[in-house]
Amino acid sequence: MNNIHKGGCLCGKSRFETYAKPVANIICHCRYCQLRTGSPFGNILYFDKKDFKFITGNLKTYKFITESGREWKNYFCSNCATIIYCILEVRKDNIGVPGGLFDPPTYKYKISKEVFTRSRANFIQNNFCENSFETSSSYKPLKDDEDRLKG
Ligand SMILES: [Zn+2]
Ligand SMILES: [Zn+2]
Repeated sequence: MNNIHKGGCLCGKSRFETYAKPVANIICHCRYCQLRTGSPFGNILYFDKKDFKFITGNLKTYKFITESGREWKNYFCSNCATIIYCILEVRKDNIGVPGGLFDPPTYKYKISKEVFTRSRANFIQNNFCENSFETSSSYKPLKDDEDRLKG
């Protein structure tokens, strides 16, 4: 297979491969991404499910319901807790892989969209790409989140 791109977690026990370009490469500033990464923003590369393979390791899962009422499920290494991928109800046919997991971390894929700029860290001055949005097209809040999750 062409275009094999390997990656994995911090401890090295959980490893995966991807076999094609991502269908989307998203920078997300939402509170969920800030909390799941501990960083100012998340970077998720979405692949067709057939183009992703979990190779080795043990995963645990954590799922929650977004303010738009949809399931978001994280799969993380049971040893070191690095999130290896996520599956969002809004993108059922895709596997979302954090951009920093690839080795080497060349960030070779172009950013296709930036979302939730309304909660972007104030020290980030410029948009990451022209395709930049205050929230996202799938954002349809059903209820107010707790204060700690707002943004
Ligand atoms: Zn690990
Ligand atoms: Zn997000």
